[in-house]
Amino acid sequence: MNKTFLSITLAALLLFTGCSGKHGNISYPGNPETMKQTAYIKLPLGAVKPEGWLLSQLEAQAEGLTGNVDDFWPDLVNSSWRGKDGEAWERGPYFLDGLVPLAYQLDDERLKNKVQNWIEPILASATDTGWYGPQKNSDRWPLAVAGKVLMQYYEASGDKRALDVLTGYFRYLHDAPPDWPDKDWRGVRAMENAVTGYWLLRQTGEKWITDVIESIQKNSFDWTGYYEKFPWDSAASADGKIPLNWGPEGLTAHVVNNAMAIKYPGLWYQQSGEERFRNAVFSGIEKYDLNHGQAGGRFSGDEHLSGKSPDRGTELCSVVEYMYSLEELYSIFGDNSLADRLELLAFNALTGTTTADMWAHQYDQQSNQVIVNGDKRAWSTNGNYSNIYGLMPNFACCLANMHQGWPKFTQSLWMATNDNGLIAVAFSPSTVTAKAGNGKEVVITETTDYPFKGEVKFEFRSDDPVNFPFYLRIPGWAENAVIKYKNKTTEAEGGSTVRLYARWDPGDVVTLSLPMEIRTEKRYNNSVTVMRGPLVYSLRIDKDYRSVKINYDNFAYKGSIDWEIYPESPWNYGLVIDLNNFGRGIEITENEISKYPFADKGDMIWSADSARYITWDKDAPVVIKTRGMKIAGWTIENNSAGIQPRSPVTPEGIAEVIHLVPYGSAKLRITEFPLIDIRQIVDEIR
Ligand SMILES: [Zn+2]
Repeated sequence: MNKTFLSITLAALLLFTGCSGKHGNISYPGNPETMKQTAYIKLPLGAVKPEGWLLSQLEAQAEGLTGNVDDFWPDLVNSSWRGKDGEAWERGPYFLDGLVPLAYQLDDERLKNKVQNWIEPILASATDTGWYGPQKNSDRWPLAVAGKVLMQYYEASGDKRALDVLTGYFRYLHDAPPDWPDKDWRGVRAMENAVTGYWLLRQTGEKWITDVIESIQKNSFDWTGYYEKFPWDSAASADGKIPLNWGPEGLTAHVVNNAMAIKYPGLWYQQSGEERFRNAVFSGIEKYDLNHGQAGGRFSGDEHLSGKSPDRGTELCSVVEYMYSLEELYSIFGDNSLADRLELLAFNALTGTTTADMWAHQYDQQSNQVIVNGDKRAWSTNGNYSNIYGLMPNFACCLANMHQGWPKFTQSLWMATNDNGLIAVAFSPSTVTAKAGNGKEVVITETTDYPFKGEVKFEFRSDDPVNFPFYLRIPGWAENAVIKYKNKTTEAEGGSTVRLYARWDPGDVVTLSLPMEIRTEKRYNNSVTVMRGPLVYSLRIDKDYRSVKINYDNFAYKGSIDWEIYPESPWNYGLVIDLNNFGRGIEITENEISKYPFADKGDMIWSADSARYITWDKDAPVVIKTRGMKIAGWTIENNSAGIQPRSPVTPEGIAEVIHLVPYGSAKLRITEFPLIDIRQIVDEIR
């Protein structure tokens, strides 16, 4: 729930032109009257453009795997989705689900040409029955992904053929018998089709689409019942009852399926209107945290749900899918905790599991990740190579699916509101061009070094002044956010949504100051994680990067390198801090973000202290200096950092200055720190 809903009216005489009581936004179609209206409306692809460090990140992605992998990976080079005779299942659509938004957000002709070369054969493949895609594929699952591709492509290009193909496919689903078996991906992931289905309904007004989605909801796996019961909890984990198989039970304990499915009750809530489905979403998220929660808002699964200890892995596919689920859920419910978690995942889990140049990724990331190599780990079902940074560690799904993370996050930074306004959902440098008020085009440029710093500036541009409400999400961690606009100053509580209704003149500026106090979060074995704003901080460890040669299905590409990383400095530190007086003995250095040489794509914001750039001489954007003490008995077990001893830990050495850097920059890291029992060394820390 939004705790507070501040409504600030600038001038009592101004009419609420946007609040006429009409259902939805006059510029962006909402759900029909028979359904619940969503809290916010996603803007069409292309409305939000990246700026600043986010632009550099997307450019790196374009010059990294996303812009190149379909030129050398045989599964994409020869994909049946592009009219050849190779892979005909999910890999092509997965890749396009990230390539399409990236191409249009960057307005990059080379990438847009790539998109067109894939899209034309897909559009041409539609048959009289409405089925489409490669002839040799008869599985509905990859079409659920392809549907999201065509949806985004239509929004950006206006190519009506995409709308026709999608309408035809939903007509096919309407006329064909349900085919959503629990033992198959298409069954456990069946409600993914509802994302595209409801979008299509909003675009076309074709009301029979709700019958299709009702049939899918009723004839596929019951995720709502699953979240209510949550069978794979800590007790099941402790008893070894999590089904580590690929049958119907195992698929419900599969980390990526879980990350996708958390949005399914929320999607269905729009049509059913029953609170039970809303509740299932929020209780499901709570249960993930409680039973499998990891630092930075994610949950573990390597590759089945695998508990809270920080040596367990989280698969990259589940990070980008959880992000997408949260983006959808935020638009439906408008609950700010969902956007808080979205930022956590983007700025920590996503950045931490790829190299900054987006040429290498992990399959599984760990919170306490002190060695990256192919030695055997305690993974539930994954292979030994799962935590190296490489082209295709363990299995190729992430190589195909990782591309959607940043572009869809960028797209979700802004949404439209039902009173013809706009809301800044998550913060990052960007420009939104959208219709507001009486349908006038407005441009808002957001300038910020967020997530490293808490100052955000919004500058308005339009041909003429426009009356519309401008909303700001205040993150839950922010105490007393300060907002300045039109010579006024106001404060807002963490977790609230601020509404500023005004006549916005060209050149008007709103500034938002989010105080970034350091805080801690309790984690496994009574340990703590240090956080500041939306960033999680990890111990900086000196590293030895070793490139290794891995044979992937007998192909390799010289542009990508597989990295093992070994620690060259101690990592077994407990924190010497006083939780009751946390600021004492902590020094924060904020480095000047604008001085980072973005023009050279090798020098990315997340590459400070990162892979490949061993000669990198810049520090991380934020460095926290604090004190730690080595814990002699805390050593390597199963080729990972052993489980940290239970806090508080008896001190046995001297306190040393240690450096914490953003999790995303720290490719080796300790993130869950034991606490040294400072009562025993009071003199020393004074
Ligand atoms: Zn994957």
